[in-house]
Amino acid sequence: MDIPLTSDRTCIFDAVGVGLGPFNLSTAALLEPVKKLNTRFFEREKEFQWHPGLLFPDATIQVSFLKDLVTLADPQSRYSFLSFLFANRRLYRFINANFTRVSRVEFNQYFRWVANRLPNLEFGQEVHSISVEDESFIVCTSRGQVRARNIVLGTGLQPTVPECAVDFMNAKTQRTLLHASKYLHREPRTSGMRVVVVGGGQTGAEIVQHLLSNPDKAPKTLFWVSKRSNFLPLDESPFTNELFTPNYSDYFYGLSAQDRVSLLAEQKFASDGISNSLLERIYQLLYQAEFLNGSGRCCSLYPRCDLVGITPSIQDGWILTLRDGFNCVVTTIEADVVIFATGSMYKPLPALSPIMDLLARGEHGFIVQDDYSIQWDGPPSLKIYIQNGAKQWRGVADPNLSLIAWRSAKIINSLAAECIYDIAESNSVFDFTRTVDTQRSQENDDKSDGYFSQTELSAAGGLRRRHVSARSPA
Ligand SMILES: Cc1cc2nc3c(=O)[nH]c(=O)nc-3n(C[C@H](O)[C@H](O)[C@H](O)COP(=O)(O)OP(=O)(O)OC[C@H]3O[C@@H](n4cnc5c(N)ncnc54)[C@H](O)[C@@H]3O)c2cc1C
Repeated sequence: MDIPLTSDRTCIFDAVGVGLGPFNLSTAALLEPVKKLNTRFFEREKEFQWHPGLLFPDATIQVSFLKDLVTLADPQSRYSFLSFLFANRRLYRFINANFTRVSRVEFNQYFRWVANRLPNLEFGQEVHSISVEDESFIVCTSRGQVRARNIVLGTGLQPTVPECAVDFMNAKTQRTLLHASKYLHREPRTSGMRVVVVGGGQTGAEIVQHLLSNPDKAPKTLFWVSKRSNFLPLDESPFTNELFTPNYSDYFYGLSAQDRVSLLAEQKFASDGISNSLLERIYQLLYQAEFLNGSGRCCSLYPRCDLVGITPSIQDGWILTLRDGFNCVVTTIEADVVIFATGSMYKPLPALSPIMDLLARGEHGFIVQDDYSIQWDGPPSLKIYIQNGAKQWRGVADPNLSLIAWRSAKIINSLAAECIYDIAESNSVFDFTRTVDTQRSQENDDKSDGYFSQTELSAAGGLRRRHVSARSPA
């Protein structure tokens, strides 16, 4: 919907959202029934698409479909995945299809269905700058400017590539040296070519599977390189899934910085591994090629190898230098096409530069408060909330779909300064209590020694801390 931008000083939105991926779309969907808040969301792309460069037809979501935009904060919302199936007359068919996991294509259809129903989303408008004037934010987009009391950032993560490749990536090399996020857009020519996929996570695995299972894409040689010691699975076991719950997120938030950093490293494969079904599929494709259909060994696997150098070759290709992480042996391989499935990370939005000096930052990024607002030195009545930029505060669930409805509800409660969504503590399998020496705990709030405060939510989604009183071991 096209709503004219205004420079009218009396018109101030309660909140302006920047970016419309699933995270801000969830916030917009849960805001829709909240008539007391006047909000607007801007997205630079012309329409909603969920990571279209990686929208493989057979890719599935890695979480339950109940972790949709709204259900876990409001199971009665009309923007749930089940409402989408019902409205599209495919609920019975969906049940009978009995998918173990929902297709990413179908979740994208669902997201687009929600986006088309919300009145306050504007596509094709990049936010260029966010500044402060007269106790309000001024948000400048490609089409004008608006004023707002709060900002909700939902601009996602930025692709990262190995340092040695950065200088070679430009418009001329975009189909031979590319980040995976652009894979389906750029359509690199892989058939009969020497192809290297760098990165041993889910995205690298999806690209390898795509190359192995589509005869018209089949490379002459395929190398799959990963820093990891093996092609490792995602840990989807029940106790690990507990890390993706509100209780755990709040518990994690209450830990010391040191504990949060070490837990994040320990919990990497709760979110960054390859789904087991995909690992099995790739293994089977390799087996079929080698022993059943006469293609021979069609893929060279290089786990625990670091890409340490890349240079152009004389035949318009690339020479890659790999170092084995076990024995430091250096190998070179030649490639026509190199695809980096090397992840993404949060980078501060350039549009924030007019106010960047006011935003509190620590070693690992912005200092994010319990309600997901960034601590800052601007007017206290104005807040900037951040989605997908608080992993160091909130743990492995931060970039994941699991907590999006809960986080949106928390942000909305904070925007409204009342409990619009009841997200008070839910049941957890863990008992986040230990025997605590209260006196020592009060003297030393460094939780790295095993003494810690328990966190609990106030009704409006705010965080209170209390020290757990000493109790006798059972
Ligand atoms: C291929 C893939 C599959 C995934 N699958 C799963 C899964 O199954 N389960 C799971 O839990 N997680 C999954 N994730 C992780 C996560 O859920 C997704 O990355 C999710 O899309 C993150 O949502 P987001 O809204 O933060 O960012 P994005 O989806 O990246 O959206 C950000 C949006 O902001 C816009 N934007 C950026 N800057 C501006 C600006 N200045 N002005 C206006 N608009 C701007 C961008 O154009 C973009 O549309 C997946 C990630 C990827 C890459």
